[in-house]
Amino acid sequence: MRNATNFPGRWSRLADFPSFGEAVRIEWRAGRIADPVKRLRYLRRRMLQTKRRGFHGWGLIAVPLMIAVAAARLPSGSAETMERERGLAVPRAAGAAPSMPPQVWLIEKTEAEEVYSNGLRVDRTFLTANRPRARFPVYSLAGSPVPWRYGGAPVGIVYHTTESLVPPFEEDQNRRLQRLGRNLLEVVRSERAYHFVIDRFGRVYAVVAETDAANHAGNSIWADGEEIYVNLNDSFLGVALEAQTGAAEAVTPAQIQAAKVLTEALRFRYRIPAENCVTHAQVSVNPLNMKVGAHTDWAGDFPFAKLGLPDNYSIPLPSIYAFGFEADPAYERALGMNFGGVALARAQIERQAAAQNTPAAQYRAMLRHRYRDIEAELKQNEGGN
Ligand SMILES: [Zn+2]
Repeated sequence: MRNATNFPGRWSRLADFPSFGEAVRIEWRAGRIADPVKRLRYLRRRMLQTKRRGFHGWGLIAVPLMIAVAAARLPSGSAETMERERGLAVPRAAGAAPSMPPQVWLIEKTEAEEVYSNGLRVDRTFLTANRPRARFPVYSLAGSPVPWRYGGAPVGIVYHTTESLVPPFEEDQNRRLQRLGRNLLEVVRSERAYHFVIDRFGRVYAVVAETDAANHAGNSIWADGEEIYVNLNDSFLGVALEAQTGAAEAVTPAQIQAAKVLTEALRFRYRIPAENCVTHAQVSVNPLNMKVGAHTDWAGDFPFAKLGLPDNYSIPLPSIYAFGFEADPAYERALGMNFGGVALARAQIERQAAAQNTPAAQYRAMLRHRYRDIEAELKQNEGGN
């Protein structure tokens, strides 16, 4: 992992916001390079050099600058381009403004159990360690592929289904329900798969310690406000409901109630914004084919409202609008994915490209290039650890 002290926090970034002199000079030089690919390379190189010297304004100006200069039609200046880019809507969930959950506190804790003021009970008997949570890179929504800061505490929740065998939820199935639930917990523990599992009876089990990363999200992307997170095992907590997509047995009312009080407690503890409580299908990507939805759990029907959350399916997918991933319509239909967020992200790409006078395909290619740079950097850091 890169030394965190090299990078500014989000506020010092604003304090360091530069004059446009240098940017304009670079833009002018780049404008004299005829080959668009060479031009782009020059800009990238200058961007990284400047970043290393401690120039922190690139997060806001780099992409508009690169796009403006790489595109055939040149806007009149960096400041104008930046203004236009900043005017592009930053996504929010439809409906009410995100609210913070009620206050939740621990009322009792033993080796075996935690009990909370909102009725949450967490069984700790399967609790295990994994690797400690790493300081995770946080990127600006557009601009440099270099992180603008590092985070430490969880910023969100990813909901999963366990996709394990689910018998009918009936009294005469009780022994089977118990046995399968127990087997599942053993598997989740050995794979360090999730932080929490909610079984069919609505019992909440802490499995991977909250201080550690869980192997739940894989290649994944989410964003809030002006910040984007890539590969969420360290930055998001994984909560799995014992359930099987497409099975006749839906999640039980007890599971929904448990997911609600667990969500409240986690949101309160870590100050997690509502729009960062999302499903695996929303965040999962496949970098090999640049498609969204590599994992498809909770591609639809997640009970956001019953958990006290806004309809986060309506948030445009950041993988699409920030990194140029695509959704395959046939695949979406087959899955019954009902994301408003896919269509909204597609529309957003079109608007962003139009605002830059750039064909959408070309614009998307630039976004993908940035993702590739970030991905390469993350892989390199993993190798170094
Ligand atoms: Zn999942």
